[in-house]
Amino acid sequence: AHLARIDAIDEKVHAFLHIDRDGALAQARAVDAKREAGEKLGPLAGVPLALKDIFTTRDMPTTVGSKILEGWVPPYDATLTKKLRAADVVILGKTNMDEFAMGSSTENSAYGPTGNPWDLTRIPGGSGGGSSAALASFEAPLAIGTDTGGSIRQPAAVTGTVGVKPTYGGVSRYGMVAFSSSLDQGGPCARTVLDAALLHEVIGGHDPLDSTSIDAPVPPVVEAARSGSVQGMRVGVVKQFAGEGYQAGVVQRFNESVELLKSLGATIVELDCPSFDLALSAYYLIAPSECSSNLARFDAMRYGLRVGDDGTRSAEDVTALTREAGFGDEVKRRIILGTYALSSGYYDAYYGSAQKVRTLITQDFEKAFEQVDVIVSPTTPTTAFPIGERADDPMAMYLADLCTIPTNLAGNSAMSLPCGLAPEDGLPVGLQIIAPAMKDDRLYKVGAAVE
Ligand code: GLN
Repeated sequence: AHLARIDAIDEKVHAFLHIDRDGALAQARAVDAKREAGEKLGPLAGVPLALKDIFTTRDMPTTVGSKILEGWVPPYDATLTKKLRAADVVILGKTNMDEFAMGSSTENSAYGPTGNPWDLTRIPGGSGGGSSAALASFEAPLAIGTDTGGSIRQPAAVTGTVGVKPTYGGVSRYGMVAFSSSLDQGGPCARTVLDAALLHEVIGGHDPLDSTSIDAPVPPVVEAARSGSVQGMRVGVVKQFAGEGYQAGVVQRFNESVELLKSLGATIVELDCPSFDLALSAYYLIAPSECSSNLARFDAMRYGLRVGDDGTRSAEDVTALTREAGFGDEVKRRIILGTYALSSGYYDAYYGSAQKVRTLITQDFEKAFEQVDVIVSPTTPTTAFPIGERADDPMAMYLADLCTIPTNLAGNSAMSLPCGLAPEDGLPVGLQIIAPAMKDDRLYKVGAAVE
């Protein structure tokens, strides 16, 4: 049924870069055979899923939305891919994304944009717009995203779906193509809080192949999603997540959510986190710096595209020609920005200062979580904007992540879930819930209560 749905509408939505029709049907039949033979089934047996094209899959291409990896079929599965298969999930295919997960609209994909199912002329968010669009258009009931600065939560917000950025280290990064390694985090996307929890439980947990993976059990997310409640909880509202640039309808729905939390028995606490005003600036030094180092591996020698290798050119020239042809504008912009920020003489002024801001943000969160159990905010300042509107204005694009970035810098956990439609445009608004590291279960407890 999901493949039929994809056939009927994905030409318009363009959520998928690759559809694994045969693989998905074979997997579904294998689950049926197991069931008939009375064998033990995985926890998500037979449930279809859309996988962001940033996780390696040994039977499907992995492009990361880039021409530089066009047609590359990895020799191994990411740990997350393996866990999905072990849970008997049916992987439908790979979803569209901004190239190397750099963007907030999926317009930076080398393979063309994805449409927002609510209005195909608008963006589905990014970088994981394909995964969220697949959910919102009922092409898949579950999806996987990655969140470096908001790429799970912002697409969830603008498509009226649920997305969770787990605690940093909570889901393995092994086999997830690196953008900014100290920020990147894979996580679950779904249409309900409980569905997200069921997927979170399957993909989470320690992985010895990822040196930053946390060696602790997955927080009890499913139990929390089943027993939603905010009775007696202290919920923080941060002063810095408001003001200029926030759309009226977004603010209205957010304020209603705060009233709902109160009526359900939560106490609201106003918080001041001054360092959050610097988060975007720090992020746009740290993320490009790490990207400039991580993307050095795309040298035309090891994988993917190779341009100009005619036997007369040096390896350096082939590398340069390949990068020129294979990387898009935003990726080049970030490599140049990051290389500059890390260069000797500038390192302390840029990267060093950004790291100090990162510490201040972590400290502001620590102080906040002495007073509250969770923090709430709008996920993103506006509803889905029209395709093309911010495409030539990187600064305007970067503002979409104003509320999501502090969480990545501090490494704690956060969720976006729908909280109604903005009256002025009828488009979905996202409520963000933020919890301390390894307290991801609180997101689900609060999310299930207000869903
Ligand atoms: N939009 C942000 C960026 O462009 C975040 C991306 C992400 O979370 N992968 O870097």
